[in-house]
Amino acid sequence: MPASFESLQKILKLEAEYGYENRAVVGGLEKFLPIWANEARKAHLDEKMVAVVGEKLQDYPRLNPEGRAAAIQGLIEILRSAPASTSQLQPTHSEPSATPRQETPRPPRPAPSSGVVRPAAATSTAPTLGLNAPLTVISGIGPANAQILRGIGLNTLEDLLYYFPRRYDDYSQLKPINRLQYGDELSVMGTVYSITTRPVRGGQSQITEAVFTDGTGFLRVSWFNQPWLSSRLPEGTQVVLSGKVDMYLGRLVMNSPDWELVEQDHLHTNRIVPVYPLSGRLTQKNLRRMVFQVVSFWASRVPDFMPSSVRHGAGLIDLGQALSQIHFPDSQDQLKEARFRLAFDEIFLMQLGVLRQKQAWQAGTAQVFSAPREWLDNQIMRLPYALTGAQQRVLDEIQQDLASGRPMNRLLQGDVGSGKTVVAALAAAIIAREDAQAAIMAPTSILAEQHYRNLTLTLAEGENAPLRPEQIRLLVGDTSDADKAEIRAGLESGEVALIIGTHALIEDPITFKRLQLVVIDEQHRFGVAQRSALRSKGDNPHLLVMTATPIPRSLALTVYGDLDISVMDEMPAGRIPIKTHVLSPREVERAYQLLRTEINNGHQAFIIYPLVEKGDRDEGKAAVEEHERLQREIFPDLKLGLLHGRMKPEEKDEVMSRFHAGEFQILVSTSVVEVGVDVPNATVMLVEGANRFGLAQLHQFRGRVGRGPDQSYCLLIPESEDAVENQRLSAMAETNDGFVLAERDLEQRGPGEFLGTRQAGYSELKLANITDVHLIEKARNQAQALFSIDPDLSRQEHEPLLKTLEKFWGNGRGDIS
Ligand code: ADP
Ligand code: MG
Repeated sequence: MPASFESLQKILKLEAEYGYENRAVVGGLEKFLPIWANEARKAHLDEKMVAVVGEKLQDYPRLNPEGRAAAIQGLIEILRSAPASTSQLQPTHSEPSATPRQETPRPPRPAPSSGVVRPAAATSTAPTLGLNAPLTVISGIGPANAQILRGIGLNTLEDLLYYFPRRYDDYSQLKPINRLQYGDELSVMGTVYSITTRPVRGGQSQITEAVFTDGTGFLRVSWFNQPWLSSRLPEGTQVVLSGKVDMYLGRLVMNSPDWELVEQDHLHTNRIVPVYPLSGRLTQKNLRRMVFQVVSFWASRVPDFMPSSVRHGAGLIDLGQALSQIHFPDSQDQLKEARFRLAFDEIFLMQLGVLRQKQAWQAGTAQVFSAPREWLDNQIMRLPYALTGAQQRVLDEIQQDLASGRPMNRLLQGDVGSGKTVVAALAAAIIAREDAQAAIMAPTSILAEQHYRNLTLTLAEGENAPLRPEQIRLLVGDTSDADKAEIRAGLESGEVALIIGTHALIEDPITFKRLQLVVIDEQHRFGVAQRSALRSKGDNPHLLVMTATPIPRSLALTVYGDLDISVMDEMPAGRIPIKTHVLSPREVERAYQLLRTEINNGHQAFIIYPLVEKGDRDEGKAAVEEHERLQREIFPDLKLGLLHGRMKPEEKDEVMSRFHAGEFQILVSTSVVEVGVDVPNATVMLVEGANRFGLAQLHQFRGRVGRGPDQSYCLLIPESEDAVENQRLSAMAETNDGFVLAERDLEQRGPGEFLGTRQAGYSELKLANITDVHLIEKARNQAQALFSIDPDLSRQEHEPLLKTLEKFWGNGRGDIS
């Protein structure tokens, strides 16, 4: 069978494997057609045959799945029955209707088996295979290598193209041997002058020693346990050596350098060389060779999904060029451009996804709630304090949302103690005023109970209260069955206007008469699924999520780009600033002294440890052991409570309630205490092992005190005298502003701490730095511009982008809130 026939047949089979989605060829079968026809003519294939193929495939993209299956199977049949001598092809074979549906189409399969197609990379058939083709289509990647590559998650050509180097070694500067210097990392070209292998260490090892010369001098080189090098590199062989120049007995040497025969492509040497993350049996050289094979052939053939408007707008290089340069850069400048392009892609796709979600959300309609100004002013007047400017501003924003006819989708960020709860309470009042219902979900039952008490006080007590006490209910895990039944009935009938609770709100089969506002407190404690589960109990309700973890602006744009963001950056007046001190480990006695003084004055204290229990290798202090020691040795006369994450929720609640009630003077805890419980009587927060926490988290700990009328203290003790650590911690003493601390954290520790459960799309970020505000803004602007002209990405020129976007986000993934 002629080669062109064979290549066509392979494509057709692959297309069938893929379920007729026109994916067998990058760019679609219609792109492949002219290339194939050209080849076929060169091979003197029957012109009629070329015409038949053309006819069948021309309209392929526009056919429905059955039509496609028929076309492909028809062609396969025609090829099968085509006579060996092509020029004798009979016209009857070319009748399109002669052989449709010879085989019932097979159902789509997730991935083609490796046996389907195996042309060598550099043959003419290769460009016609999709990037989804298994790596075994590359000559030099057999089943064994494929297996190893699978181990690091590389299955397809595309996977390998997007497997980026970890770093680069710049060997692009060759130096003559007589100018080498100790410590140089570079490449040298030379001829083998002599080479010998001899046993060392009593015959256990072998050393190969060689002398190279380039005419300017001699260089000694040695390798361990590679005796075969003696025969691989006989005297006179021209080699490029790459590695580090070392010194031995006063002479410059190279130990175990990379080497490459000169006549070969200088893949591993004499250029900027990629260094890949490795694992298991893969070697750098091997992987590099495989990547090179894929890149050199495929990179330029990858169609660029980025619309040219965006490419020009953002000054991006072509995708193929970027993919090629990121692996084998010709210069540092080109590497930089490649990185920018690929990082831009990531952020751009992320932004586009986020904007689409926002649009989908806002396309829905919501009920309008607009409270008269006078009514709301009255509600505010009823509070025991005046609202801060920030609270007032955020309330205005919420009011506008509620009256907009579109569902509110707002994130309220406010430092610990900035007074978010009352804002949520007023929003709930606006909803209840029009006989609709609101739900507030908090991460722990202590917090839910605290909200329940506060909100009952705010909304259902005193003159002109908007609600009656029985209209507000609390639903937590240990609410009695009788109460639960009553609450369910009340929510269903609409008598209960405001429900406050924990996960129980979504675990219990409650239904609402008219749920119109969902508030999630400490939102980072909840998963996306939990948030949307509560939301789905209403009909497109308004949503307010609250967090006390300030999120730096750059991150907020990427992570929360689909939410409107309100910031409460002002504290209620009259707070006494907390005094913060960083103590050295030797000063721990001083800290205990302060605790004792405060406790003698009737106050309470927290002591935080980074670990629950001492691990085998971890030397850090742990809550369980320290609790015991403190109780026994330091504070035998006091009652110390213990709280950590391995306790059951009920146990934790129990301990917290007892601390709240004053039964314990000291609460020894791990970071679980972070979430916002009010114990106004607590005035000392002592954190041991403080170096192990991020500033944002330390700030959360600190927010546990200073909630009452008395002077409070925050004492931070790092594990060592390390000056750098203490420098970092001193920021805590310098500022009380959570945003400033969050920005510092981001600089010092990266974004991990801010992401919480909201990570959709993050795993896709390989190159982009989500703290790069410049890049993010550029990508966001481009995404917005594109969005404004083609919000559905339905234009034909945006089709490749749409496909890439869907792949990036995964279909249907990424709920908001
Ligand atoms: P957070 O934002 O951390 O959730 P809360 O809503 O729990 O803060 O408020 C902390 C404390 O501040 C509460 O005791 C609350 O009553 C009080 N508070 C809220 N707003 C004001 C205000 N404008 N003036 C004075 N105290 C306020
Ligand atoms: Mg709170």
